[in-house]
Amino acid sequence: MKQIYEQFKKEINAYKYALWLMGWDDETEAPKASKAYRTEQLEVLYTLVYKLEMDEKRLAAIDQLAKENLTGPFKREIELEKKGIDQLRKIPQAEYIAYQVLISKSSQIWAEAKKNSDFEAFLPTLEEIIVFQKKLIKYLETDTLKGYDVLLDMYEENMGIKEYDEFFKVLNEKLVPFVLKTAKVKQKFPSVLLKGSFNIEKQKQFNHRLADILSYDLKKGVIKESVHPFTSGVVSVDTRVTTAYREDLIDAAIFSTIHEMGHGIYEQQVNPEFDGSILSGGVSMGIHESQSRLFENMIGRSKAFWDTYYPALQQIFAKELKKVTAEQFHLYVNRVKRDFIRIEADELTYSLHIMIRYEIEKALFNGKLQPKDLPKTWNKLYKKYLGLTVKNDAFGVLQDIHWSIGSFGYFPTYALGSAYAAQIYDVMNQEIDVEQCIKNNDIRKINRWLREHIHQYGKLKTPKEIILNATNKPFDPNYYVDYLVKKYTTIFKAYEVN
Ligand SMILES: [Zn+2]
Repeated sequence: MKQIYEQFKKEINAYKYALWLMGWDDETEAPKASKAYRTEQLEVLYTLVYKLEMDEKRLAAIDQLAKENLTGPFKREIELEKKGIDQLRKIPQAEYIAYQVLISKSSQIWAEAKKNSDFEAFLPTLEEIIVFQKKLIKYLETDTLKGYDVLLDMYEENMGIKEYDEFFKVLNEKLVPFVLKTAKVKQKFPSVLLKGSFNIEKQKQFNHRLADILSYDLKKGVIKESVHPFTSGVVSVDTRVTTAYREDLIDAAIFSTIHEMGHGIYEQQVNPEFDGSILSGGVSMGIHESQSRLFENMIGRSKAFWDTYYPALQQIFAKELKKVTAEQFHLYVNRVKRDFIRIEADELTYSLHIMIRYEIEKALFNGKLQPKDLPKTWNKLYKKYLGLTVKNDAFGVLQDIHWSIGSFGYFPTYALGSAYAAQIYDVMNQEIDVEQCIKNNDIRKINRWLREHIHQYGKLKTPKEIILNATNKPFDPNYYVDYLVKKYTTIFKAYEVN
């Protein structure tokens, strides 16, 4: 049985690698005119993969192997494969295909509606997507997983309404008052940072140094550009990142590069023995995001980081940054602005944007909110948690792509990732001196710690086991709020002194 299973795996991997490369190329360097031709080839390959994955011989082999007394990583591999095929078997094929067709068109309808700030134009499509999601829930419900929990569990195993309610309750009670209270703090920055223009070729020089600084392995990855930065990996030896440059913002590309390299380093450090199996790559969205956020915020936005690397940036932008000190730059990259757009949010207010989306999704799936009332509820919650009056739906309920592609249950993992990161960072600091590593230009030491405690496992352990294994405690959101309050109290104090 194992032989049959492995033979299928080999073939599926070859097609999937080709598909992945075509997708990567599409996002980065492919000529625009190739789109239609590529789509035809993609469809053929996707169909081939689907046929192989659902081949009766393969399914029978997995069913049989799941009954055997397996041990070690192969046991977990088969458990995950079995879970995946059992879920697919529960969804009627015709409905599944109809939904894929809907999803392939819906993001364009959303993009158009967003452009015109016209929620009504998107509403019928959104309603169809939600109807399917509700059916999906019914198909996939188990004795222990019901309702919205089914969707939440797809992105983060063992995290359901009960766990997220506790998490967001802590944010609501401790973080919201802090954010609203500190809204009055006057933050001042050198005007060159606010109104400057920063040559993109020069930005690239610094961004490419980041690979070296963070030990993102260029033998196993590349850095390219795309409209929205992302990381994409299939095996530990091929994990690629992109970044996006903005001439008006000196730090936008820097932090998106650090963020994506955090994702990339995670996948590069998974045990190479898992390459080509379901165990390779990150275990969940939340754990993945914890690694990118740890690099972006705890390392990249730290005082130690800019004390160490600011001179290099200043040398590149000698004219622009001549009068800007490392202290001023550190404060600038930690600027706080309660704002409408999630992807532009700062570290302090980011998770409040997520809390709003979570409340909305929960209400949609327990029947307390109808899709047509989304804008009203959205605007009410932005007022309540961020003190903002939403101007129009493009800046409000239409801003994110997620719901248009049926990604319900995904948002909460973004906030969870930041919270995991704070707990991991706390324990890592007890074992190694993180600041000193940064100052010594020895971030490799941090990577080694992460490899040993988190990265090497890939999907071998569940997210819950990863957190317990790395921090010796179950997940506790208080680490996150305490970290934020402590960090931003210090930051805001610096404005009073200066
Ligand atoms: Zn990310």
